[in-house]
Amino acid sequence: MKIHLDTRIPAGTPRAGVLASADAATALTTSAAAQASWNAFWARSGKGWCTATDDGTDAYANLLPADPNTPEGAEKYRQAGAALAKLLHAARHTGVSLPNAHPALVEGLLLANYRYTDQFAQKKAENTPSLNAVYLEGWKASDLRALEIRVECVFLARTLINHPVNVLNAQGLAQAAADAGKEYGFHVEVFNKKKIESLKMGGLLGVNWGSLDEPTFTVLEYKPANAVNAQPYVLVGKGVVYDTGGLSLKPTNSMDTMKSDMSGAAAVLGAVSGAARLGLPVHVVGLIPATDNRPGGNAVTPGDVLTMSDGTTVEVLNTDAEGRLILADALHYAKRYNPQLVIDLATLTGAAARAIGHYATVAMGTASEEVWSDLLASGSRTHERLVRFPFWDDYNELLKSTVADLKNIGGADAGAITAGKFLEHFTDYPYVHLDIAGPAFADKPMGYWSAGGTGIGVRLLLDFLSTRTA
Ligand SMILES: [Zn+2]
Repeated sequence: MKIHLDTRIPAGTPRAGVLASADAATALTTSAAAQASWNAFWARSGKGWCTATDDGTDAYANLLPADPNTPEGAEKYRQAGAALAKLLHAARHTGVSLPNAHPALVEGLLLANYRYTDQFAQKKAENTPSLNAVYLEGWKASDLRALEIRVECVFLARTLINHPVNVLNAQGLAQAAADAGKEYGFHVEVFNKKKIESLKMGGLLGVNWGSLDEPTFTVLEYKPANAVNAQPYVLVGKGVVYDTGGLSLKPTNSMDTMKSDMSGAAAVLGAVSGAARLGLPVHVVGLIPATDNRPGGNAVTPGDVLTMSDGTTVEVLNTDAEGRLILADALHYAKRYNPQLVIDLATLTGAAARAIGHYATVAMGTASEEVWSDLLASGSRTHERLVRFPFWDDYNELLKSTVADLKNIGGADAGAITAGKFLEHFTDYPYVHLDIAGPAFADKPMGYWSAGGTGIGVRLLLDFLSTRTA
């Protein structure tokens, strides 16, 4: 979709806007009939979008008494933008003009204007957003471009998540990273199975034993000449391109959406692409270990002991707790960068989703309070909210194995935290673990989330990295 900064708007293009009070309606139309129709609507419903036709052109007005410069108000504006996208699509409008629009309204409208259509033999109108142009006035071109880039990076992540595994396997995910690096100007190196073996990444290799497709380990690096940080930020994304659970097989319906088990990897790829495209002056490295997890003939079995790349031995007691096995090798690999901070994103535990639902991401770790303060603020600004969980060493008790250094599952209680404590074992730097199992995938459309991958994490990370540029 094109966004135009233009005051010359094609005739017949509908106008839309959010009004703080009914009196402000003159900003959208001078037609007394249109204003009377809006006032009658709001008198009945109190709020929401209302359409009126004025000289043959539709005008949409939303009475929304919220301050878009607060996190809560901005989210109301985003949701209003999503509702507007739905109305414009229903009316088959191809363009809209938004006089004096707040960025949050435009962001919600753009984020909602996404559908995954790649697998339809014939693209039908109802499956494809009708809107392909937004006209804005009074914006700085650089602000417009930055918003466009952020939204496109979310869409990149969503599409990778929405691709089924027969379209995007571990090699495909690595290729997508290589393509993005080429297009947006950052360095990408893909390790094949031989190289992964030479690095003794026993977690990634073990999870891959049941698969017919070889694993990949992808390193993305964006290092601008003007980087303000001497030590990089390292982003690690779980890239399980499909998770059957392995021999600890998932029940049928729990498997339906498991193409989304690489949502962490998609977020990392989206965020590194965004940092490069926005030209942020920060040195960022992305690490993506990738494989599918299947019960093949040679699949890792409960009771097997794997030796991870740092030498730690792990008793595998549940082959469906595979994400932490591949992440452990990536977190160990991150040490060679002497990183300022490592953040991993992973659809790691059902326990995280059960604890707080799809409303937020479960967060924990060892980073400084200053990092936490910035990260939590980014979460609230982008409405990709974080809920900080405890990270006490007491939980390590639950990961003790009788035959190896660690076991890969903690038991029935505190499953999200024991997963995080398992990962912490492989770190020696300031660390944040983000369990995105709740918000990564939407079973049905919700506001500006289309059904499918949400791309959660991309806007959060780009906002956070932007705060670290001085
Ligand atoms: Zn699993």
